[in-house]
Amino acid sequence: CGIFGVYGVRDAAALTQLGLYSLQHRGQESAGIVAVDDARHARVSRAMGLVSEGFGDEEMDALRGPIAIGHTRYSTAGASAIENAQPILARVRRSHIALAHNGNLTNAVELRRDLEDGGAIFSSTMDSEAIVHRIARAHGATPEARVAEALQGVEGAYCLLIVLDDTVLVARDPHGWRPLVMGRLGDGWVFASETCALDIVGAVYEREVQPGEIIAVDAHGLRSVHALPPAPINRCVFEHVYFARPDSAVFSGSVDRSRRALGRQLARECPAPGADIVFAVPDSSNSAALGFADESGTSYELALIRNHYIGRTFIQPTQAGRDAKVKVKYNPVRELLEGKSVVMVDDSIVRGTTTRGLVSLVRGAGAREVHMRVSSAPIISPCYYGIDTPRREELIAAQMTHDELVRHLGVDSLGYLSIDGMLSAMPEGPDGYCHACFSGKYPTATPSEPELLRAG
Ligand code: 5GP
Ligand code: SF4
Ligand code: MG
Repeated sequence: CGIFGVYGVRDAAALTQLGLYSLQHRGQESAGIVAVDDARHARVSRAMGLVSEGFGDEEMDALRGPIAIGHTRYSTAGASAIENAQPILARVRRSHIALAHNGNLTNAVELRRDLEDGGAIFSSTMDSEAIVHRIARAHGATPEARVAEALQGVEGAYCLLIVLDDTVLVARDPHGWRPLVMGRLGDGWVFASETCALDIVGAVYEREVQPGEIIAVDAHGLRSVHALPPAPINRCVFEHVYFARPDSAVFSGSVDRSRRALGRQLARECPAPGADIVFAVPDSSNSAALGFADESGTSYELALIRNHYIGRTFIQPTQAGRDAKVKVKYNPVRELLEGKSVVMVDDSIVRGTTTRGLVSLVRGAGAREVHMRVSSAPIISPCYYGIDTPRREELIAAQMTHDELVRHLGVDSLGYLSIDGMLSAMPEGPDGYCHACFSGKYPTATPSEPELLRAG
């Protein structure tokens, strides 16, 4: 998911809408904005689908005030429904709690059971709703103390934007799985999942929100507390591999730089001598393919053209939908492929549908040899921290041996980056990263009933 928030700037909701445009890649299932005006009235607008479809002039006019938070929701499992759109807005004791969450709680089932045993009634199937109930029950003297109290015992990944009355609160879990940054806009503050969303509103990057940090900003100014127990840092390596935009810095490192480094490392680990051209599966692997071309001295071509009016293939809930979409989304450039030995670079293989479909398209366009190179390690395990990788049974690299994969994908050769190679390309150095979906080594306890979880 993508989250974006504004404190202390006129028409905060209009800025939030812009910010959400920049975070659209982090979720296309639904989008929403909560705005709070000078009289402390909170209003919400949420809709299924894209930001560009969700907010007409009427909705935007109603979202007045200097405070706003927004959310783009990303989910691949189960039915998508408007009850699960965020931000959540709850009316509590003549005031309100609004919340937008990026991440996934690993003890959501237990948290919810405890709250339900105590009489709480839930209106969604989201893990995030438990946090709202916990904030409503917390007694702390300040807004930040209430949030800190509510987050004690909440496990897993969260970046949160919260509005309590007219205080904006920001929290990042102590492991720091998901990115969150802050910037200045005039006298106001802007918070966002990625720096590309600061750019679009003209905010000046200030810093990352630290793992374990809770920030409160209101009429009294900005306060930062570290009230949660410290934990080992587990930044998500997949943010650099695939999820974030290359024009962003996440975890304070440039994504363009890390992706090029991944591509260069891939060329060193899995060269394809004798290949005529290198091309990317646009757009997520463009930078990695450039790195591969650069390191190997092979010429970089735009041999696959992507239709930009089609969303991310992965979002399609059924396999039949995904298969058809590969062809609708990509078309090969025959002129560049005919008779050539080619290297096709993608950032990741999940179910293998994209690769398989593309290999057949590329061969159909006349390629003589297809060498597949992947700028991450094989994905063999599900993510419980906010990326909706499917169950292990659907992860192709968990189901087949290397030789079976080569045959199944229809390639002449297949090369994945090693886990160490992947980590060595990270701008902050190889330590402090989560790589559970690649290594199967989970840095924390995994959820007791993962099938009951819905990511926030
Ligand atoms: P596959 O077809 O193997 O299931 O998916 C691989 C393709 O989906 C790659 O091109 C990769 O860039 C993209 N991809 C990888 N992970 C995700 C994800 O979590 N969400 C979406 N939307 N796309 C993904
Ligand atoms: Fe990221 Fe994979 Fe860890 Fe999930 S399991 S947080 S996708 S590195
Ligand atoms: Mg891709």
